[in-house]
Amino acid sequence: MKQGTLKKTRLVDWLRSAGAGQTVYVPVRRGTDAVFAPLQDGVEPLLDFDNTVLSVKSLFFPQCEVLLTFRKERLDAAPEPAGPFVVFGVRPCDARALFCLDKLFGEFGQSRDPYYLARRENSAVISLACAKACHTCFCASVGGDPADRTGADILASDLGEDLLLEAVTPNGEAFLDAGGGLLSPPTEEQAARRDNAVQSARDGLTKFDLTDLKKRLDSSFDSGLWAAVSEVCRGCGLCTYLCPTCHCFDITDEKKGARGRRVRTWDSCQYALFTLHASGHNPRASRKERMRQRLLHKFQYTVDNVGEVFCVGCGRCVANCPVNLDIREALKKLTTQR
Ligand code: SF4
Ligand code: SF4
Repeated sequence: MKQGTLKKTRLVDWLRSAGAGQTVYVPVRRGTDAVFAPLQDGVEPLLDFDNTVLSVKSLFFPQCEVLLTFRKERLDAAPEPAGPFVVFGVRPCDARALFCLDKLFGEFGQSRDPYYLARRENSAVISLACAKACHTCFCASVGGDPADRTGADILASDLGEDLLLEAVTPNGEAFLDAGGGLLSPPTEEQAARRDNAVQSARDGLTKFDLTDLKKRLDSSFDSGLWAAVSEVCRGCGLCTYLCPTCHCFDITDEKKGARGRRVRTWDSCQYALFTLHASGHNPRASRKERMRQRLLHKFQYTVDNVGEVFCVGCGRCVANCPVNLDIREALKKLTTQR
């Protein structure tokens, strides 16, 4: 597939020219955090950051979205299909999470999600390879890599003064062609520099062996380990809200007079109300049961249903849990203990 190098000083020009007519999102600094924001005059895309607070998932599966509006119980309007957009600077773990969601909301899901799929079809994802590992990430233990191409249209690698851009999909090739005037062919020395940077990120990653995890989980439902791995959890749901693969949602109808709208909002399996029945019965009444659901959903049910582990090792849940509950420790326990 096509490749090219781009002077970093021309990044904004390249994004504007190749993404003409589209909204271009880039990582920017907000306070101490990195977040995705539209590229506007005066905005400098961040290139040196660990990862964004919220993953790119929220551009494809927003935290809150109107599915339709209605008047007197009849459909009034369905939302316009999403306009084309480009997102630059997605970390490879988060692009891989999109690949997982593509399967779930698309080919293997119980029903296709037209809202998510329209956004995926009308967009281009440009990943930015990791040149260093954060102390909380573990992508290599769950099938990823600091330069993983999965889920991306283009992979960008930082070479110091330049970026090496490699198309991954035909969509990515078309994007490289559209901004081709600013690109130069990569030299062998630049390709070697990229390989060295990726290797150094790989070397810095936390790695642990999860080969036996799925087999263990298949017979783990009544294990005493669930109490141990959920003991300190406060049930705040933060881990699920930050996770790039978590996809639970609630749908509510909001009415005022004869008019109303149907709204989808993220929800969390870590909340007691999530599974509370109208009868008062709750099949997951305890934190232990809710933590078991979270981990089995990611490492057993989705493997059985769509063929993918739904954890990409981004480390957000590790870095942000208010009680320092570390999923890596939980996974090690579940893999090695009875
Ligand atoms: S962030 Fe930590 S405390 Fe909150 S629900 Fe997740 S594991 Fe539990
Ligand atoms: S479970 Fe934690 S480490 Fe895994 S993808 Fe979700 S937030 Fe990232």
